[in-house]
Amino acid sequence: MLTFIRRKWFTLPALSTQKTKSLETRLVYLKALKSEILSKEQAVYDALNKDFKKSEFETYVSEFSLVISQLNLAIKNLNKWAKPKRVSSSIITFPSKDYIYKEPYGNVLIISPWNYPFLLALEPLIMAVSAGNTVVLKPSELTTHTSQLLTGIIKTVFPEDYVTSIQGDAQVSTELLAKKWDYIFFTGSVPVGKIVAEAAAKHLTPVTLELGGKSPCIIDDTAKLKLAAKRIVWGKFFNAGQTCIAPDYVIIKRTIKQEFIELLKHEIIDFYGENPKESADFPRIINEKNTQRLANMLKETNVVFGGIVEETTNYIAPTLIDEPALNSEVMNDEIFGPILPILTYETKEDIHRIVTNFDKPLSLYTFSNDKNFIEHILNTYSFGGGVVNDVLIHFSNHKLPFGGVGSSGMGAYHGKLSFDTFSHSKAIIKRGNWLDPSMRYAPYKNKLNFIKKIFKYFS
Ligand code: NAD
Repeated sequence: MLTFIRRKWFTLPALSTQKTKSLETRLVYLKALKSEILSKEQAVYDALNKDFKKSEFETYVSEFSLVISQLNLAIKNLNKWAKPKRVSSSIITFPSKDYIYKEPYGNVLIISPWNYPFLLALEPLIMAVSAGNTVVLKPSELTTHTSQLLTGIIKTVFPEDYVTSIQGDAQVSTELLAKKWDYIFFTGSVPVGKIVAEAAAKHLTPVTLELGGKSPCIIDDTAKLKLAAKRIVWGKFFNAGQTCIAPDYVIIKRTIKQEFIELLKHEIIDFYGENPKESADFPRIINEKNTQRLANMLKETNVVFGGIVEETTNYIAPTLIDEPALNSEVMNDEIFGPILPILTYETKEDIHRIVTNFDKPLSLYTFSNDKNFIEHILNTYSFGGGVVNDVLIHFSNHKLPFGGVGSSGMGAYHGKLSFDTFSHSKAIIKRGNWLDPSMRYAPYKNKLNFIKKIFKYFS
């Protein structure tokens, strides 16, 4: 299958001729990409709607607008980001001028998932190109319409030996991973993340892994409960819960659980009506396999709202589960769908027992007005990133690093940090010739005491 790809693309001559390093070239292509994407705006909405009935509104706010703002950011700041950065020199290097030079890693492989198929393919791609790399993108095979569209856009804008999109499944991904890359950027599940890390290790290729996990949402009895319910319903059921940073489950103070469940029900009906299946704003599960996986999670649990599964249309209603056991199916793995388990606590030890039952999550959310409680949670648990009194929105500030820790991922990106992610930082000293103290040169006799004094003074 890949013989033709091998011949054609694995030389990626655009880089070997140094063409992609030119800032003018990068800017020309970034601008062309922006203009092509803008001209395909409606096609993007249509593709995502065909793939899993995602609404135009959600596609705009969570994919299209973010891609355009990444492009704007890169176009505006590229010259500044790419410029060698002067740092102060040290007494040891004096006289000198010291710099950090940014250089592209080289040939970058980006493997992207289906859940935000437009954004999670293009955001890293934009920054890899900004940093001067060549790119091979492998978009998800599960969102066929979006992957087709992405491939078309890339083909229109870039020469094949500069940036290219190769569509295919795990088999194609495996073949691509067997090649030697200069950088691999992977977004997807934890099990596949391990496969990617193993493949990268064979060639000592640096890698960013943007993975998932079970992200808790902890609510104490000082929280503004109605607002918390509204924000959690928004973040949990956005994209039908198929969001890596969606709150996976709630841990709430036992005394306010019942009131909270009633508020959640009210908000779900307010958002999607009595029958969310009829709502144009509520997407479908990506495929039959995932619908089946989620349906299995509902077995032998106490469903207090929703719970309707229609396998023929991949529909699962927004669902609330009351107090599932920690060893139940729904608490076993990342949910990644519109099912919200609600667990309770009495003491901080209860919270600790639940949160530490799982690997370090990608996100953690706290709803509280008690500063001590908030700081306790933030300082006790390790997680990729989070929000106090809201969910998801830390993703939207490009000045904040986005990434996991432990099994939820390694490395981070967004904004300028994405440019740095795809660049090697080269340390350069430009040494002056007008002074050359003899202290460092042999013979060392009678020099050590003086050197120690200097070291003491300056350290
Ligand atoms: P996935 O791991 O199944 O697939 C991701 C990509 O890997 C796809 O392009 C797929 O073709 C490829 N792939 C699948 N199996 C492979 C294999 N055996 N070898 C090599 N490549 C393989 O993930 P998904 O189902 O597309 O996405 C859902 C997962 O991604 C969830 O766990 C979610 O939390 C995570 N995710 C994380 C982020 C983040 O930014 N941290 C964002 C979105 C999704």
